[in-house]
Amino acid sequence: MKVFYSDQFVLPLPEGHRFPMKKYSMLRARVDEAGLCGPGEMRVPHAVTDEEVLRAHDAGYLEKVVSGTLDKQEMRRIGFPWSERMVERSRRASGGTLDACRTALEDGIAANLAGGTHHAFADRGEGFCVLNDSAIAARTLQDEGLVGNVLVVDTDVHQGNGTAAILADDPTIFTFSIHGEKNYPFNKGESDLDVGLPDGTGDGVFLEALGTGLEEALDRAGATMAIFLAGADPYEGDKLGRLSVTKKGLAERDRLVLEACRELRLPVAVTMAGGYCPRIEETVDIHFQTVERAAEMADTFKPWRNEKGAKYG
Ligand SMILES: [Zn+2]
Repeated sequence: MKVFYSDQFVLPLPEGHRFPMKKYSMLRARVDEAGLCGPGEMRVPHAVTDEEVLRAHDAGYLEKVVSGTLDKQEMRRIGFPWSERMVERSRRASGGTLDACRTALEDGIAANLAGGTHHAFADRGEGFCVLNDSAIAARTLQDEGLVGNVLVVDTDVHQGNGTAAILADDPTIFTFSIHGEKNYPFNKGESDLDVGLPDGTGDGVFLEALGTGLEEALDRAGATMAIFLAGADPYEGDKLGRLSVTKKGLAERDRLVLEACRELRLPVAVTMAGGYCPRIEETVDIHFQTVERAAEMADTFKPWRNEKGAKYG
């Protein structure tokens, strides 16, 4: 399976910063060691261009991001210190999702070892998110005439508030978010379908709610492709999660989402989104099992491409 990774995903941060930046390089190493990619299948994503970014963001915001003129409060909301590398990282992380989407249209499935920056709004960033990769990718493919409707399946434990806001009036991109109801963001946006779960929700309830939500989302979206945010933070050991889903439960989540898409012959781009275990290895385990599952299933996404001809969509 083709996978997108850039050294730019790892942004140097001040000592003691709470974001687990190392998870990206650790995940890449795990994916490498496990041989999930064939020769040439681990690829460096392009940096999204201004034109691509502007499909989801305001010009004034992009200008401030690029020139480093966001004010203190705007930067505090994002949570990273500004640097040129921060800008490049944001562009590459979104590029990874766009490239994974393009690849999925050819291969059925592909993954970005970053992305899922769903707290980025058209005119501001927050929660470690600067650019909204899902909105940029979906809109770009639509503008190029490569896809019809797109479904965003956001299973990160935090609601996809930025994605919901950017796409609120867009009937062609369906946003489904399943998240902790009492968790950040405290003012929730309005996705096309929101499923808010109580604190402490375990595997059984989580998976049942996901299954029901997925069915409704797939039914209503009329999608020709899907973007799956496989956040590691619904995990019981996550320090920002507040849910009690086990690693096994998250593996089951991945299976449910990917099988549901395959059933409908939807190409899928998989993105990582959040994960904040006190031991980074645990977060990496969860991201890894997602990529592993996707890679295991990759061949089963291919036959129907051939049935239909050259491409999906
Ligand atoms: Zn999250």
